[in-house]
Amino acid sequence: MGFWLPGCAANEAVSNISGAAIAETTESATSTTAKASGKKKVLTTFSVLADIAQNVAGEALDVESITRIGAEIHGYEPTPSDIVKAQDADLILYNGMNLERWFEQFLGNVQDAPSALLTEGIEPIPIAAGPYANKPNPHAWMSPRNALVYVENIRKAFVSLDPDNTDIYNANAKAYGEQLKAIDDELAADLAQVPDNQRFLVSCEGAFSYLARDYGMKEIYMWPINAEQQFTPKQVQRVIEQVKTNDVPTIFCESTVSDEGQKQVARTTGARFGGNLYVDSLSTEEGPVPTFLDLLEYDARIISNGLLAGSNAQ
Ligand SMILES: [Zn+2]
Repeated sequence: MGFWLPGCAANEAVSNISGAAIAETTESATSTTAKASGKKKVLTTFSVLADIAQNVAGEALDVESITRIGAEIHGYEPTPSDIVKAQDADLILYNGMNLERWFEQFLGNVQDAPSALLTEGIEPIPIAAGPYANKPNPHAWMSPRNALVYVENIRKAFVSLDPDNTDIYNANAKAYGEQLKAIDDELAADLAQVPDNQRFLVSCEGAFSYLARDYGMKEIYMWPINAEQQFTPKQVQRVIEQVKTNDVPTIFCESTVSDEGQKQVARTTGARFGGNLYVDSLSTEEGPVPTFLDLLEYDARIISNGLLAGSNAQ
């Protein structure tokens, strides 16, 4: 397979692959996991969706994420082997709302794999500023209330993919939905401890719009969306001013981007750097958030502890 060059990851390379080459490679790859288990194979664009989908699927389907743990998902560049994998999938689940800017072209390179949009039915919050202003903020899963919509969309997609196991998907979706509702209550209780005048969530990416809306917090961020992932002096300065103006005790960044700019804000303002939150990826099994439910609980704890510790110290 001389043409599957390692590291040949550019979009250009992907779109130049001929249909014939894909068909030939797919043929030779059919002996892999999905065929071996006899289960239908579901691909998702990133790890958070894979975990939610796996909870709905239980043992009935094989679920896998295209992007790996810790990957930057907005500007991901699919590899030829991702396309081969997708050719073999029975269903591809994606977030939409411009999260996966690579996905449309990717899907154009994959024949015959049906896909399901998981934010269908969610009211988007527009991005406030920057090159993507007024487009939907894609991070809808960060609110457990929205996550219930994802679960329902996944359930529907699985039922139409594999009607024989409808009872399994219905039962799993119900049980997982109940866990999400319990976390919703927990988050509300956790974040309610933070005094009104301290309820500022300062992050690197503006990924918390839905969470902030649902739990009565105000957002301050370095950049609206992980477009360039590079902080500019102007962005740092703007956050510094807002942190000072609002006397914000603790600030945060996220696991998939550099926290250097935010640490600079902390040094300049005297605010504490409260750590990295998880948004666009789960952690590995050994890390703090191997599941989506862990992610929601972890972030709520880091945010509420950070803000409370900061305010007590003053
Ligand atoms: Zn993001």
